[in-house]
Amino acid sequence: MTRPVSRLWLSLVAGLALVMVLGLGSLGYQRLHRAALADLTLRGESTLSLAVAALNGQLRRYDRLAGLLAQQSAIRAVLATPGDTVAVDVANVYLRSTARLLEASDIYAMGLDGTTVAASNFDQPRSFIGGNFAFRPYFIDALGRGEGRFYALGTTSRVRGYYFGAPITGPAGPVGVLAIKIDLDAIEDGWRGSDYEVIVTDPEGIVFMSTHPDWTFGATLPLTEGRLERTRRTRRYAETELRELPLTAATGADGGLMWRFAGTTGAEYRVLSERMPDADWTVQVLIDTAGARQQALTRLAVGALLAGLAVLAAVIVWQRRARLAERLALQAEARAQLERRVEERTAELAAVNRRLAAEVTERTATEERLRATQADLVQAGKLAALGQMSAALSHEFNQPLGAARNYAENARTLIERGRIADAGGNIDRILGLIGRMSDLSRHLRNFARKPNAQLSDVPLSEPIAAAQELLGWRLRAQGVALTVDVPPLVVRAGPVRLQQVLVNILSNAIDAMEDTETRGIAVTARAKGRMAVLTIADTGPGIPEQLRARIFDPFFSTKGVGKGLGLGLSISYNIMHDFGGSLAVANARGSGAVFTLTLPLAHWDA
Ligand code: ADP
Repeated sequence: MTRPVSRLWLSLVAGLALVMVLGLGSLGYQRLHRAALADLTLRGESTLSLAVAALNGQLRRYDRLAGLLAQQSAIRAVLATPGDTVAVDVANVYLRSTARLLEASDIYAMGLDGTTVAASNFDQPRSFIGGNFAFRPYFIDALGRGEGRFYALGTTSRVRGYYFGAPITGPAGPVGVLAIKIDLDAIEDGWRGSDYEVIVTDPEGIVFMSTHPDWTFGATLPLTEGRLERTRRTRRYAETELRELPLTAATGADGGLMWRFAGTTGAEYRVLSERMPDADWTVQVLIDTAGARQQALTRLAVGALLAGLAVLAAVIVWQRRARLAERLALQAEARAQLERRVEERTAELAAVNRRLAAEVTERTATEERLRATQADLVQAGKLAALGQMSAALSHEFNQPLGAARNYAENARTLIERGRIADAGGNIDRILGLIGRMSDLSRHLRNFARKPNAQLSDVPLSEPIAAAQELLGWRLRAQGVALTVDVPPLVVRAGPVRLQQVLVNILSNAIDAMEDTETRGIAVTARAKGRMAVLTIADTGPGIPEQLRARIFDPFFSTKGVGKGLGLGLSISYNIMHDFGGSLAVANARGSGAVFTLTLPLAHWDA
């Protein structure tokens, strides 16, 4: 909805602006035109005054000369004695020389009837001599008023001239008229070449002199019958046909008089006129207003251009400002956005931080709990082991103690009864039980071993041979075949403790094979990296799967009461670890158990 409305507004504003511009332009043009016209008028007025002054000066030069020449004796002589050819000749020559001197066109003398008797152009083809000019106003006025002036086209010479007339007086009054004719062409020529047209019109409005040749003898006022009649009477323009100039008078923008010429030129002139009463004519200066129009248009164009430039500059400045403002707004928006994003990210980071801190606290608490639980478990394990051990120990010791108590009571009864020999047998049994308990306590002492007791380089074959020797009678008694396949390896170990381990494992094997038919033990060894690997395999029943994990536990034994303490493997396991080795068990593929012992080699090949 907003777009059409704004477009309508835009076109309205543009229309208004256009109307304003046109109005201003028209007003401006009128003012400029008026100013230019005023300017032209001012300059025209000075031209007019100059032209008038020049004409006046020219005419005044001859003003009194006619009267002066009329008094000359040579002139008066001609009219005093008509028919005297000598006097005529004298007068002719005088008039010729005077005309040259005065730069007058012609000077001539007429009788009272108007007939020319002597003339400066007596020797010219169109001589005035004999010509009658009684009809000319200058002739009539000279006789009537003592002075005559007239301008006209010469009836004889066909040359325009200004005529000054003065009466020639004899003793009995006027005898004739002397006339001086001056050529106006020279004055007219002087006006040519300026920017203005200068015309001189007679009282009937007919152009007599003009810088524009076509206008000469043209009428600036309608040629009414009266005007034609008055002109005809004086024969001012001889036989020249008069015509109306194709002009219309108008009032200019500044109220001054204008002449508009019809026809191809269509020129328009500002008309300035001044009447010259002495000469009885009007001098007019015509200024072509095209210049004023041109000037007004040029100034208007320059003004419009300047205004356009100013508007353009204003628009550019405005646009720049707008663009700058827009850019600043964009920057501010971008900054605000950035700040918002930073704030958001900061808030997010703070939230993440808080979460992390919470997690860390939780984890710390969990770890704390775990550690506590672990400690509890260890404690519980220790207590369990201790309980297990206490139960086993109390069982192990209570049995022989109970038996020893029975034997002792029996022995006392037997002694009381005097059966000393029987009592001795009981005492032997008690001693046997005590021996067993000693054995037990000796084994237990091994738990309190010093794990870091001195180790030494032990050739592996030595403890094997010692164990073999110790168990020799048992092997022989049970018919067990022992094979030893051991290379000369030297290991780091305690020789006595290693022998103890071997004795334990070998005696367990002998025990296990009590009920088997084939009884054999194979001892093999080899080097593997830095370690010596020793295996002891028997042909017994092997170790049931479910028991394998427990056979290294202290007091675990499957042997009947009084036979096994269940400490052998447990102690052996610990000894092997003390050496930096290990003890493990597996079942052989056929039957029988395989114990694997590893021990660090004293020397090894890198
Ligand atoms: P003890 O010999 O006093 O029972 P040990 O710790 O030496 O205690 O042995 C634990 C148990 O491991 C034995 O009771 C026996 O059941 C089992 N055992 C050990 N050696 C062998 C073997 N070579 N074959 C089968 N069972 C074995």
